Amino acid sequence: MIKITLPDGSVKEFEKNSTPMDVAKSISEGLARNVISASFNGETVETATPLTTDGNLVLYTWNNDEGKKAFWHSSAHVLAQALEELYPGVKLTIGPAIDNGFYYDVDFGDQAVSEKDFPAIENKMLEIARGKHEFNMRSVSKADALSYYKDQGNEFKVELIENLEDGTITFCDHATFTDLCRGGHIPNTGYIKAVKLLSAAGAYWRGDEKNKQLTRVYGISFPKQKELKEYLALLEEAKKRDHRKLGKELELFTFSAKVGQGLPLWLPKGAALRERLEQFLKKAQQKAGYEQVVSPHIGQKELYVTSGHYAKYGEDSFQPIHTPKEDEEFLLKPMNCPHHCEIYNAKPWSYKDLPKRYAEFGTVYRYEQSGELHGLTRVRGFTQDDAHIFCTPEQLDEEFKNVIDLVLYVFGSLGFENFTAQVSLRDPENPDKYIGSTENWEKAENAIINAANEKGLNYVIETGEAAFYGPKLDFMVKDALGRKWQLGTIQVDYNLPERFDLSYKGSDDKLHRPVMIHRAPFGSMERFVAILLEHTGGNFPLWLMPEQAIILSLSEKYEKYAEKVLNLLENDEIRALVDNRNETIGKKIREAEMNKIPFMLIVGENEEKEATVSVRKHGEGDLGSMSVKSFADLVNNEISSNLKPFK
Ligand SMILES: [Zn+2]
Ligand SMILES: [Zn+2]
Repeated sequence: MIKITLPDGSVKEFEKNSTPMDVAKSISEGLARNVISASFNGETVETATPLTTDGNLVLYTWNNDEGKKAFWHSSAHVLAQALEELYPGVKLTIGPAIDNGFYYDVDFGDQAVSEKDFPAIENKMLEIARGKHEFNMRSVSKADALSYYKDQGNEFKVELIENLEDGTITFCDHATFTDLCRGGHIPNTGYIKAVKLLSAAGAYWRGDEKNKQLTRVYGISFPKQKELKEYLALLEEAKKRDHRKLGKELELFTFSAKVGQGLPLWLPKGAALRERLEQFLKKAQQKAGYEQVVSPHIGQKELYVTSGHYAKYGEDSFQPIHTPKEDEEFLLKPMNCPHHCEIYNAKPWSYKDLPKRYAEFGTVYRYEQSGELHGLTRVRGFTQDDAHIFCTPEQLDEEFKNVIDLVLYVFGSLGFENFTAQVSLRDPENPDKYIGSTENWEKAENAIINAANEKGLNYVIETGEAAFYGPKLDFMVKDALGRKWQLGTIQVDYNLPERFDLSYKGSDDKLHRPVMIHRAPFGSMERFVAILLEHTGGNFPLWLMPEQAIILSLSEKYEKYAEKVLNLLENDEIRALVDNRNETIGKKIREAEMNKIPFMLIVGENEEKEATVSVRKHGEGDLGSMSVKSFADLVNNEISSNLKPFK
């Protein structure tokens, strides 16, 4: 008998060679139907793997990330089999599961595959799936594995196998198909009930453009047809919310080939939106004890050699700017931190002066490859909502809590309710990898964990994920479509204070190094606006909307009254505009809806006579007529219920 420990801590005895599926059956028939994958003592196993020792077993269903991974990994095998059957002679390379689905990189030789071929491939996959073929793992010797793929003339798999240790190589068989594989499958192909191939794109073997170009076929699969339908609807919605599309429709930003790729141009409405975001954060930061600083867009090359940023960005980024003076070189700044270090260095500090918190909406420039550029999320010039806190090691605890408060305030005010955090710590096995004393690292790591606990964050700890210069805390938000975005980083730094020789006089009258914290709740204005656009679909919180209301006159006769209403609203600090065009009211409403203006105020004879407005809310419809003052109160109440002052 063997003892199996389940995640809830319960221990059950089973006969030796029982499988994870046997364990599931012993718990309930329902669970057995839903189990698709398992791990034993932390290692991925098949649901049919005989268990021979005591150990910890976790059973996964479609509702776990691990379950989905097994599902999509298995689906990649089925895709590979379908391609081999439909396109004899194709060479398979690698085909992993990804966050949403799977792909397979294939050398199609002289044959071409495009989206029009997808339905036939999908049908083939479903036909294979219906055969309910089991996935069976077997060990092969390196020699046998090599000869199997050499016989097929598949130099890619041969290369993969050559890099593996003999004795660790496994193949997976299902139906008539065999693939090199490490395992982790669903019980049989019959679980795959719905398949959709999403795209085909060029991909270089091993991601190296010197290598052969392959075709990467992306797909996704589901245990139910209904789930595929929901997923496709979500994709449709994501397309509608694409920030590049919305940015154009709402006239927020544009790009110009003349100005240069990856250099966004903010249009008046976008600039106003951005300005409001900056004011919002500046106001909160002022309350939190930050001081605003300003630094230039360039700096001497030496500055970035000192900071180490030249080593990181120099060769691969914008090249130095030369001046009429020989040997003089400047760089577009890739980071604001070096400038802020020199601001700190402008005068001597005592421990009583700390912490110093310098904030700047600082624009930085990095040369991203043109293939990597994407709307506002990947650009070559962007403005960080940057700040650097210089404090004593003892103050880290308090400072971390304050920064978390600020980040949570930002998320709350902008409607991001669903977020998690990740704490990245050093790898205790490799202390030499890190700069700064062990004592200070412990202080900083404890400060982060204490702060995260005290603030009730839902966080995970990743050991070994810290940068060489300090531990950090990252926030991930989930948007309205369930997609994850990284927002808001808080990073401790022991490196730059060292490199810039920063100091303060301690209570012992001796000089000490301050600790530096980098933090940016938005990340960058560009990326944040992009995420906010996709999260809200352009229906920003009312306080942030470029226009909060539009006054629609029923005819030219009411032009004067419309202007009067506008004046009254402006007195109440409501951003409004008038549509006095000689168009039908129906058309004016449709356009205002398309522009996502939150409130439409219709004015005609009755309204003028009674000094009222007829109010329509975007996406909701008629709210009836009310006095201008009542409408202003309605708007301001909604704003103050969403946007609370900081602290
Ligand atoms: Zn596999
Ligand atoms: Zn920084």
